[in-house]
Amino acid sequence: MAAIHILPEQLVNQIAAGEVVERPASVIKELLENAIDAQASRIVLEVEEAGKKLIRVSDDGSGIPADQVALALATHATSKIATGDDLEGITSLGFRGEALASIASVADVRLVSRTADALEATEVTVAGGKAQPPCPASGPVGTTVEVRNLFRYVPARRKFLKTDATEMGHITEQAARIALAYPGVHLTVTHNGRSVYQLPPCDSVRERIGAFFGADMAASLIEVTSDEPGGRLWGLVGPPHVARATGSMQYLFINGRYVRDRSLLHALREAYRGLLEGRRQPVAFLMLTVPPERVDVNVHPTKVEVRLRDAHLLYGQVLATLRERLLGPGLTPSVQAPTRVGADGPGPSDGDSDRDARVRGAVADFLRSPPATYQPRLPLPGKMGGVAQEASVDSHRGVPATGRSRLGERTREPEAAGEGARPAGEEGPAPARAVQLHNTYLVAETDDGILIVDQHALHERVLFEEIMERLERGPLESQRLLMPVTVALSDREMAAVETHREALARLGLEVEALGPRDVGIQAFPSLLERGDPEGTLRDFLAWAQALESGPTPRQVLEQLAHVAACRAAVKAGEPLKTEEIETLLAHREAAHMAATCPHGRPTALILRKRDLEKQFGRDYAAGRRTAETDDVLPY
Ligand code: ADP
Ligand code: MG
Repeated sequence: MAAIHILPEQLVNQIAAGEVVERPASVIKELLENAIDAQASRIVLEVEEAGKKLIRVSDDGSGIPADQVALALATHATSKIATGDDLEGITSLGFRGEALASIASVADVRLVSRTADALEATEVTVAGGKAQPPCPASGPVGTTVEVRNLFRYVPARRKFLKTDATEMGHITEQAARIALAYPGVHLTVTHNGRSVYQLPPCDSVRERIGAFFGADMAASLIEVTSDEPGGRLWGLVGPPHVARATGSMQYLFINGRYVRDRSLLHALREAYRGLLEGRRQPVAFLMLTVPPERVDVNVHPTKVEVRLRDAHLLYGQVLATLRERLLGPGLTPSVQAPTRVGADGPGPSDGDSDRDARVRGAVADFLRSPPATYQPRLPLPGKMGGVAQEASVDSHRGVPATGRSRLGERTREPEAAGEGARPAGEEGPAPARAVQLHNTYLVAETDDGILIVDQHALHERVLFEEIMERLERGPLESQRLLMPVTVALSDREMAAVETHREALARLGLEVEALGPRDVGIQAFPSLLERGDPEGTLRDFLAWAQALESGPTPRQVLEQLAHVAACRAAVKAGEPLKTEEIETLLAHREAAHMAATCPHGRPTALILRKRDLEKQFGRDYAAGRRTAETDDVLPY
């Protein structure tokens, strides 16, 4: 082994840069934070080639005195803290004194700064790791930092940079975090000389959300607020119907700093428990103000994680404030609780409603649980207790086989409906009745017990299979919309539309740019008659944006099929006509029935006759009553 030696400063800085400077967006985060710490009221961010060529941040903040300009670029040099005590109550965004030195070790940097009382500005440059002595320069009060040729001296890092579109996405994200936390600051962003954001100062976070995520999104948000001794919470949160496929729209700020705090994000999701479909994620912009000494920001190099002294109190505050607002007056859940019928009379008593809630909670939990340990008990063809059979009989009787129903482009012929084992029209067993309960579940008799189908999950699965099958053969046929649907998008979403234009077209979704942040959907796949063009596009874009790396073409198509199927499928709570119920159940046989919908929820459950008998004490043969809980199997 070589002898131990102190590393040269340049190398030390490069190592520090490894933690802090991952990509152009990380440089931008540091420079924007410095401008905010300098009390800037106006910040201009200019980038070229997604920051790979040039990043320039100019502010009108306090500036740096001439004799300290060189020091600003030195390692562990900061004006923000002086003693260990200062670490106990950080009020600035920066304090480590490492950012500028790190950046200057992996790029060429020029810094020009002037304080209000200086007659001229002072400039210092670092190129190839070598600093030139500071010299006078011209320039306004404030600071400009230029970063060129990022990672020129660290080719390994350079290789990991992604496409300009991806890097711009990360840059926009950093700009958004600052813009949302500091709406009073004028922020301008340009890319390759073209204006990307022009955000005049305002006092409304909602306005800024509109600029980044679209006006529709901003308008739909609900305000939440609460004041507790331990902290103040203010925020805008999405009503359940604007939920997203991922958590990428969950913004949490503590004392003006964007953080990802697992515990508080968990509180956020808990507040929406039971209000969102499947795995959908709430949209939220939450701003917490807590005493600085209660937040330890010195736990993570980029400070995106913090340690909270009263984490459990804040957890409770977030959960309670949101929950109250979401369940409070003015926000009725979209699916009504089922009306109770029976001997209890109208209006359940308090005890009853307790029990009712418990039972419904248990059922909901059960329906959510993954079908982990079940044994598939797929019925033999033609043995589906006549459920599919009745549907096929029906399609002969009334519904024309080529008729268009809500549940598919065509009603299938019985052969196609998996009834191949029995010639169409041949006498089958007496048709079983299928009924819809709570406008959500289809219940049918089978040879073996009782089948319960989640109408949305099943329909979604059927449509998904159908879309994928057709896609194998080529682009889906599309139909021009009589009225193009206009959708307001964010810049990142606009970029994603460009990236995936081909895949969208393959699905039959024709999207055209109408303005810098508006697109028109001109055509939609004709297969999805009840499809939701806007919802489909939005869900897809949310997914595309949340990806860290580029998806494969196959992943893109599958995702498009998922979101289109989900949006087009009948919803829970929608009443269905008898023929529709039957067509749907017939399709269940037809599609290569996997037991789950594309989101992984089970589409159907079976209550086995044998187990029902046990439960009701009818299994005298076995000579015992059991209360086993495995009587319901995800099917
Ligand atoms: P930190 O922000 O952690 O102190 P930096 O390396 O980012 O470390 O900056 C070093 C110092 O340079 C800061 O403490 C501050 O005094 C000064 N500085 C950097 N950027 C600016 C700016 N835009 N305006 C005024 N001063 C700045
Ligand atoms: Mg800094």
